[in-house]
Amino acid sequence: MRVGQKILVVEDNELNLRLFCDLLKAHGYEAEPVRDGREAVGRARDFAPDLVIMDIQMPYITGLELIEQMKTDLELRGIPIMAVTAYAAKGDEERIREAGAEGYVSKPISVVKFVEAVGTLLNPPPAPEAAPDMPARRAAR
Ligand code: MN
Repeated sequence: MRVGQKILVVEDNELNLRLFCDLLKAHGYEAEPVRDGREAVGRARDFAPDLVIMDIQMPYITGLELIEQMKTDLELRGIPIMAVTAYAAKGDEERIREAGAEGYVSKPISVVKFVEAVGTLLNPPPAPEAAPDMPARRAAR
């Protein structure tokens, strides 16, 4: 982990917001809280985070809409997004990933899984070697 990586935390619930930010700070990250989803895009531009943690159920604008907005924004689309949601109904994770989120954690969070997911999104493991493709197999024939 690189110390001081910046994480924007978009969450309307004050207790969750504090929990997430405290956890992240305890692990050496710089956490920036956003309580109102309507401010999320502007704050992301100003703060230039390395990761965005996004609540899904919020008043005024949902996390799903915000993920779609960020993933179609040339300046913000490269920032990984970890969605956090209490509704883990079948199909929810799929919808969230289709919107462009790279990670997904369900509430109530497991502290260990939450921190692990953050670490993985910030420092993804190297891509595996490409599997041999058709031309290689043809050459072996
Ligand atoms: Mn919420």
